[in-house]
Amino acid sequence: MTEYKDGLAYLPLGGTGEIGMNFNLYRLRHEGEETWLAIDCGIGFSGNDTPEAEVLMADPTFIAERSERLCGLVITHAHEDHLGAIAHLWPYLRCPVYATPFAAAVLRRKLGEARLNNRVVLNVIMPASRFDVGPFDLQFVPVTHSVVEAQSIAIRTPYGMVVHTGDWKLDPNPLVGPLTALDTFKALGDEGVLAMVGDSTNCLREGPSQSESEVRIGLTELIAGLEGRIAVTCFASNVARVESIAKAALASGRQVMVVGRSLRNLESAARECGYLTDIPPFLTEYDARDVPDDNLLMIITGSQGESRSALSRIASDTHSTISLGEGDTVIYSSRVIPGNEQAVMTVQDNLTRRGVMVLTDKDGMVHVSGHATGGDISYLYGLVRPKYSVPTHGEWRHLTAHAALAREAGSDVVLLEDGDILNLAPGEVKVEDTAPTGRLALDGGRLLPMTGGVLAARRRMLFNGVVLASFAVDDEGYVIGEPRISAPGLLDREDPESERIREDFAYAIDEIPDELRYDDIAFRDAARTALRRALGRKLQKRPLVDVHLLRV
Ligand SMILES: [Zn+2]
Repeated sequence: MTEYKDGLAYLPLGGTGEIGMNFNLYRLRHEGEETWLAIDCGIGFSGNDTPEAEVLMADPTFIAERSERLCGLVITHAHEDHLGAIAHLWPYLRCPVYATPFAAAVLRRKLGEARLNNRVVLNVIMPASRFDVGPFDLQFVPVTHSVVEAQSIAIRTPYGMVVHTGDWKLDPNPLVGPLTALDTFKALGDEGVLAMVGDSTNCLREGPSQSESEVRIGLTELIAGLEGRIAVTCFASNVARVESIAKAALASGRQVMVVGRSLRNLESAARECGYLTDIPPFLTEYDARDVPDDNLLMIITGSQGESRSALSRIASDTHSTISLGEGDTVIYSSRVIPGNEQAVMTVQDNLTRRGVMVLTDKDGMVHVSGHATGGDISYLYGLVRPKYSVPTHGEWRHLTAHAALAREAGSDVVLLEDGDILNLAPGEVKVEDTAPTGRLALDGGRLLPMTGGVLAARRRMLFNGVVLASFAVDDEGYVIGEPRISAPGLLDREDPESERIREDFAYAIDEIPDELRYDDIAFRDAARTALRRALGRKLQKRPLVDVHLLRV
C-alpha cells in the first residue's frame, strides 16, 4: 500500500480488456478527504468459455467496502453494458445515481423490477448540463451513439480535468438527437485536459464512421422490395434504429408490431421522453392478428441468438402466436457481439431450414456500428489534446490499436488492467496499487462469484457429473439397510455400473474402522473417500461426490 496523499486517481473495476461490464471509479483525495465517483455499472454476457453463467458483472467488493465515501454513480448512456448491473449491485453501493431522462426512464423500469425504486435516489440530469457530484465538477458532453442521449463526461478536479468518453461515434446525420458536441470538446481541449479515458471497441476500423441515415435509406429500399411477412431484429435500446425500421415499414404500407418485453419497454421509455413522436403506436400481437402478411412488419428481439427470445422461439417453431416460413424474411439490423456467433448461427440456420430468407449487414446497408472508428478517434484527439490517454472498453487488440492512435496524436498512453489504480495527478502518472477484482454471475436471482465454490461445483457437474450416496446408521455407527447411490448426468439408474458401485460402496463402508463411526463428520469423510474409491478408474472421470449419512 502506498501512503495517503492528495490527488486524483482512476480505477477500472470492469470493462478493460473485455467487452461489457463497464465499471469505472475515480478517487479524489483533497484537503484530507477521500471521495470516490463511479461511472457506469454494466453487465456482460458470458461466452463459450463460461457455460455455467450467462450474465456477468464486475465484483463490487472493493468499492462496497468504501461505500460511505462513494458520492455518486453517473451513467453515460442506457446500454446494458453501462447500466445493466445497477439493479443488482446498487445494494452494495448505496449512492445516488445520475442519468439523462432516457437512461433514467430505462433504469427506473429495471429498479422497479428489482423492487429498489423507493430506495435509489435517481437524479435526472439534462444532456449537456454541468453539475456537481460531491467534490467532482461534472459536465455532460452530448455524443452520437446507438442509443439516444449518450454523454461523455468532463470531470473537473483541483488536480486537473479528465474526459471520460463513454461510448461514442461521429455521425453527421444521426436522425435522432444532436450531433457529437465537437465545439465543446474543442473548448475542453483549450481549457486543458489532463487525461482522456476512451472507448476502443471499433477502433480497428479505419476512416470515418458510417451514418445512421445510410441505414434508414438501406432499410427503406430493401423492405420496399419484399413480399410476405417481414421480421426485423435489432438492439432494443436503439431508438433511432427502431424509428428507421418503422419509417421504412410505413413507407412500404406496412404497419408495425413489436414483439418482446425489452422492445415494449423501449417503446414506453422512448415515448415518455419525447421520442418516436411521429410514429403511430406499435401494434401488439393481438392488434395485428387480422393484418395481412404483406401489410405487417414485426420488430423483434433476439438479434444475439438469446435462447428465450421471440426470434429463437420462432426459428424453432415454438412461439405461441407467430410463425414464419417459405416466402418470409428476417432482417438482422445488428452485429453479432463476440461470443454470440454460435447462438446466432443456430437461429439463422433454423430459420433457413423453414424456408425463411435471412438477410444481414452482408446483404445490404442494414446496420452501422455505434462506436468510433479509428478515424473518429484520431479526430477527437485532435480536439481534446489530452496529455495522457487511457484506452478502455475493448479487448486487448482494440486497446493497443487505440494506444497507437493516441500516441500519433501526441498523448502519452497508459494501458491498464481491471483493478489497476492509476495515479493521474499530482506527480508521475503510473499504477500505484491494485484493487481486488472479480466477476459475479447472475444465477437465477442470485449473484455468485465466478471463482466461488458453487460455480466451481457447477462446472464440475457439467463436465463430470455428480454421484450422491446415502446410508443410515444406528447409534453405534452400524449400517442399517442398504446404501443408495444416484449419479445424475453420469449413469442411468439401470446401468449395471450403478449397481457395481453401490455394492463396492456398501462393502467399503462396512470396512471403515470403528473409532470413526461415532463422529458424523469423520464417518462421512471416510465414506466419501470410500465412494471415490468405489467409482474406481473405470469411468475415467472425477465427478462431484457427496455422501449423506443419516443416524437413526
Ligand atoms: Zn453503448
